[in-house]
Amino acid sequence: MKSIVWEHFTRQEINGEWKAICNYCKRMLGGKSKNGATHLHDHVKRCPKPAHKDLKQQLLLVKKTKEDGTKLANYAFNQALVRKEIAQMIIVHEYPISIVDHVRFRKYSSLL
Ligand SMILES: [Zn+2]
Repeated sequence: MKSIVWEHFTRQEINGEWKAICNYCKRMLGGKSKNGATHLHDHVKRCPKPAHKDLKQQLLLVKKTKEDGTKLANYAFNQALVRKEIAQMIIVHEYPISIVDHVRFRKYSSLL
């Protein structure tokens, strides 16, 4: 149960046997701790539901090039850049610093 793969499964006892139920496609797999987690990792890679896909492979970033063109690149979240941009937004528009604690701002940010 210590494997990080368990974030994707719910462990449940069914007819006296422990099962691992995929949180996305609801498929039942062996959930006994002695079974290990290899079969769970395999399922995460093959699960038909999109929740398991690597975000870096789904999100594309449109970059402008020096030649005035554009090219596609992988998107990678950058915490430092986000922090810098929100600080600049607060300064330039003279927003209160507390805007980052406002419920609707937090909701908006979570959707990004
Ligand atoms: Zn699944």
